Amino acid sequence: MILDESKKVKALLKPGSKIVVTTHLNPDGDALGSMLGLYWFLKGLGCDVTPISPNDYPEFLQWLPGNEVTIDFTRRKKLAKKIITEAEVVFFLDYNDSKRGGDMKESLEASNAKKVMIDHHPFPQLAVDIAISHTEASSTAELVYELIQAIDGNYMNKAIAECLYTGIMTDTGCFSYNSSRTRTFEIASQLLNFSIDKDGIFRNIYDNFSAQRMRLLGYCLNEKMQVFPEFRTAFISLSLEEQDRYNFVIGDSEGFVNYPLSIKGICFTALFTARKDKVKISFRSRGSFPVNGFSEKHFDGGGHTNAAGGESDLSLEETIKKFMDLLPQYKKELNQ
Ligand code: 5GP
Ligand code: MN
Repeated sequence: MILDESKKVKALLKPGSKIVVTTHLNPDGDALGSMLGLYWFLKGLGCDVTPISPNDYPEFLQWLPGNEVTIDFTRRKKLAKKIITEAEVVFFLDYNDSKRGGDMKESLEASNAKKVMIDHHPFPQLAVDIAISHTEASSTAELVYELIQAIDGNYMNKAIAECLYTGIMTDTGCFSYNSSRTRTFEIASQLLNFSIDKDGIFRNIYDNFSAQRMRLLGYCLNEKMQVFPEFRTAFISLSLEEQDRYNFVIGDSEGFVNYPLSIKGICFTALFTARKDKVKISFRSRGSFPVNGFSEKHFDGGGHTNAAGGESDLSLEETIKKFMDLLPQYKKELNQ
């Protein structure tokens, strides 16, 4: 599927080549899994490779092999900038819009390195030399697997398989969506051949929360979820005070946005999380309502048809009001 692009990528990879692998702001399982899977492959080829994350990520992703060598840009800016400046090749994993690079955006744009994007989101907007951009892939991890096979599958190993399996598992909600192509399961089964602990990976990701996080989830469902059957919509919001009350740490609200989708008839959900200087928003949908378009138009965001994100500079209350005021104009689409 990606043979032409793979040849071009292969031509950039020499032993000792200085390479940066990076991913999007607030990295998720696919972002880190695809970045670190590629990291281990390039290392195996003898490249001098550094993974750089735009910011910190949840503890339930910190067990991934390669976590220990990953540089957090926000914490080690000087070093990260130096490595980016000296890089000959930069790989952009799991994003296609420069804004998603967060504070790294300027350094990456200024870099003279050859730039390679590997991504599965629609509407690519990143200026790169080589684009491996396929929306039919379940995850970027799947595309990294294809790339490795096209370059040299002999360099596959257990660490790569653990990273890529994590990416596929998390981006498909444990094979419950985005996974109707047989190829996704073929790749998953190839990865299992590397003796990875599939059930252990599941537990590391989904059974690794604090008791406070579970109580926060209960509070959100009990007291914060608002349901609007006429718009087939439900949302949850979290203020800074509520986050403090439950000792909120990064990753604690992961998955919250999906819960209201289990209500019969609901096809559009949102989670509004107050941050110090803005409101971060997650959107999910079932069926044909494109949350990426909605988010791009109204909340400076994007993503996939059924899973997207965005942000707002308004207060939490004003952001929620803006959202609710928009619903009537989408009533017809939401009730299709
Ligand atoms: P999540 O809601 O899990 O943070 O993100 C869902 C999807 O939307 C992911 O594919 C993610 O990359 C994308 N996404 C999340 N936030 C943003 C954003 O602010 N801008 C854009 N363009 N995409 C986002
Ligand atoms: Mn992804």
